[in-house]
This record gives sequence, C-alpha cells and structure tokens, in this order.
Amino acid sequence: GSAEILDQLRVKLSPDGNVVSPRGRALTEEVFGKPLTPIEVVETICTDVQRDGTSALLRYNQALDKANLSAEQLRVPAADLAAAHAAADPALLASIRRIRDNVAEFQKAILHQDVTISPKPGVTLTQRYVPLRRIGVCVPGGAAAYPSTVLMTVVPAQVAGVNEIVVIAPPTPFGAYNTDMLATCHELGVTEVYRMGGAQGVAALAYGCDAVPAVDKIVGPGNLFVALAKKHVFGTVDIDSFAGPSEVIVLADETANPAFVAADLLAQAEHSPGSAILITWDETLIDKVQAELAIQVAKLSRSELTVDSLEAFGALILVRDETQGCELTDSFAPEHLHIETANPRDQIAKIRNSGAAFLGHHTPVALGDYAAGPSHVLPTGGTCTWAAGLSSNSFLRSGSITEFDEMAIKQIAPDVIALAEKEGLTAHGESVSIRVRS
Ligand code: NAD
Repeated sequence: GSAEILDQLRVKLSPDGNVVSPRGRALTEEVFGKPLTPIEVVETICTDVQRDGTSALLRYNQALDKANLSAEQLRVPAADLAAAHAAADPALLASIRRIRDNVAEFQKAILHQDVTISPKPGVTLTQRYVPLRRIGVCVPGGAAAYPSTVLMTVVPAQVAGVNEIVVIAPPTPFGAYNTDMLATCHELGVTEVYRMGGAQGVAALAYGCDAVPAVDKIVGPGNLFVALAKKHVFGTVDIDSFAGPSEVIVLADETANPAFVAADLLAQAEHSPGSAILITWDETLIDKVQAELAIQVAKLSRSELTVDSLEAFGALILVRDETQGCELTDSFAPEHLHIETANPRDQIAKIRNSGAAFLGHHTPVALGDYAAGPSHVLPTGGTCTWAAGLSSNSFLRSGSITEFDEMAIKQIAPDVIALAEKEGLTAHGESVSIRVRS
C-alpha cells in the first residue's frame, strides 16, 4: 500500500485539495455567501477581475485580506521602498548582496546561449533566445514573509535580461507591508511593487487593469489559491510551474545524524502545511529521529503550526532496502530531496524525480532555500515528473532563424515539393519551385 500511504502525505493542490483549513473554508463562506470548492473560488475571482478590473481587485483585497485600499494605494510608493531599505538591518542587506551574487553566478552559468549550425553549404540554422519583456513575481504573504523569494525570482529574471519586473504580495504584514521584503526589492532595483495577492493578484497580472499593466509571464510560489489561479490564467500568459506548499523527502542510512535529520524534517513542516517524510532502511534511525523531533519541535518559534503540519503530512517510513527507498522516493517525486547517506551519488543516480536534490550530511535544504544559487521556486505535488524549477532560462523565449542561399534551396526543393504534393498544398510547393525555376 505504499502508493496510498504516500498519497495521504501529499499536500494536495487538486481542486478538492486538503490544504484549506477550517478557517479558510469559513472565509470562503463569508466572502461568497455559500460553500465553494477552491477551484470555484478561483474561477469566480479571476472572472470578476477580468471583467471589472481594478474595482474587483480592490473588493477582493478588502474581503480576503481585510485591506481597505484605493486604486492609488495599490502600488507601493518609491518612498516606502527607499525608507524600508534605509531602515533595514545593514547585516541583512550585506547578506542579500552576497546571496544575489551567488544566485547570479549560477544562473548566468546555466543561461541558454544562441546555437547556430551550418549543416550544408549555404544553410544557416539558429536557435535564438530572447528575454521576456515584462514578468510578474508572486511573493507569498499569508502565513510567513518571504524576502528570500524576491531573491530567488528577481535575480534569475535580471540575469536573463528581463526589462520590467513586477512584484506582487498580499496587503498583509507578511506581504506588501513587510519591510524586509520591500528592502530586498529596493536593493535589487525592483521599483514596481503592488499590494495584492492570492487569485486576485494573479488575475490582475494576467489580464491587466487600470492600476496594473498586464505581464507576459507569472512566476513564484504560493498557496492553493495562487497555484490554481496560475493554472486558470495559463494561455493568456505563461506561468512557471505549480510551486505550492513545500515538501521534503529525507532519504537516510545508518550514517545519518538523527538530530540533523529531525532538523531537516522540521524545516519543511514549519511552512505549515509542509510535507516532511523520512525514508530509511535503518530501523534504529526511526526511533532516534522521533525522539529528536520531540526535543527540537518544542524550541521552534512556530512550534504549534509545525506540529499540526507534521501530524497531517509527516511520516517516518522504514523500507526493506536502499532499492525500495529509491523507488518509493521516485514515485512520490518530491519538491526537495535530501539524501543523507554514506554515498548519496549512488542513490541520486537511481532517482529520476525531484525538483531539487541536496546531497550529503552538510547540505540542508535551507542552503538552497536561502543562498546557494539554484532558485527555491520548485514544482510540488508530484509535478516535478514533468515540470522544472525556476531558473534564468524560465525568462527566455526561444525562436528559430533559418536562412538558405540559391544553391542550397535547389538541393532541398525536391523533398519540400514531394511533401507539399502529398498534403495537397500546392501553393507551398510552388513557392519553392518558382525559385528553383528562376
Ligand atoms: P500566499 O501569499 O500564497 O497566499 C495568501 C493569499 O491567499 C491571501 O492573500 C488571500 O488572498 C488568499 N486566500 C487565503 N485564503 C483564501 C480563501 N479562503 N479564499 C480565497 N483566497 C484565499 O501565502 P501563504 O498562504 O503564506 O502561502 C505560501 C505558500 O508558498 C506556502 O504553502 C509555502 O510552503 C509555499 N512556498 C512554496 C515554494 C515553492 O517553490 N514550492 C517556495 C516558497 C513558499
């Protein structure tokens, strides 16, 4: 029954997902006057914002986030960004600058370069990459503040050469009123920041309204409502992936330190909801980790929320052997995979599916969350079987360029004409023949 067990441990982003709390359901009833599924909520909000523009956006800001803002107050004034930066802890700003450099170095190194080949004389074929013009970044602000998300989205976009970068965050103390988040925007040179979040923020970015010009692509993490809204607007704009509630699988053997493993599980669970799963083939590790969890969770700032999350989405799983551990991990396809074994490269070679992998006893996921270089915006809910994490390449659009000379067209003409005839598209064939004849 391993598939069923794993399914229960997933924080589900499906429309009937298990991530909406009783408080969230009560809010839905209060705002819409009846119980609605999350997908119905998101469709209603997106349709209203598309039809009514700024007025609907302001109405949902008020109803869902209790923020009574005018259209003019949606955009964070430049003076507020500068003031947040001036008041920020200088040590924090120094860290932000060092992290920006780490992220930029990695994201530059992996950036796609144009490729040109000349397969035959007189033929030039190019794959060209151009940066997107204007993108929107969702920075969460419901249950916690995320200045780190600003770094992990804006820096890759800047490396790719995006001209206009728009940040949105809910009008809450963890969101658009969080001074560390605003200071990070200012440090990175982001000037367009809006006080709006949730599905209404995503819809405003996608469809545009008087107060917010539309973007070409929406990226960044968020809760169920943000993830479903991104899915709803895809096609009007591009999106990155479904970067929803966090998940980790720690795959460990007898060489793992139980205190380290417990700390790593708690670091995901504190997102609340966050899925935190240990998979091991060492029977003694389970008991040791369980004991450590009890000791460490009591000391955390978000202790109660973390316990709730562990109870719903946490597990310590004993498998037969390393092979079964790798198979189970692969089938869950976690957002984060941390391998704490003697030879983690052996296991990563056997596991295809993970949003991001962290190898060894000294590489906690938090290094990637905050500072290492790859972006922390990663596909969740099993979607990493087909989706990739955010990177500088997410902000490029590719296009091909083809060029033939007079000799080269003569060589390829018979094949083109043959296919055009088979398809009955004679004008296609004639556009080639006319040149060959001349
Ligand atoms: P959030 O900003 O994503 O969502 C808050 C917004 O949701 C609110 O402003 C409100 O507009 C909307 N909302 C809340 N309840 C609603 C309801 N009942 N009906 C309609 N709309 C409602 O912030 P959050 O809640 O803190 O969630 C952030 C999530 O992002 C966390 O789960 C965290 O794990 C995740 N995260 C993921 C990654 C990743 O890469 N996968 C990275 C960082 C954070």
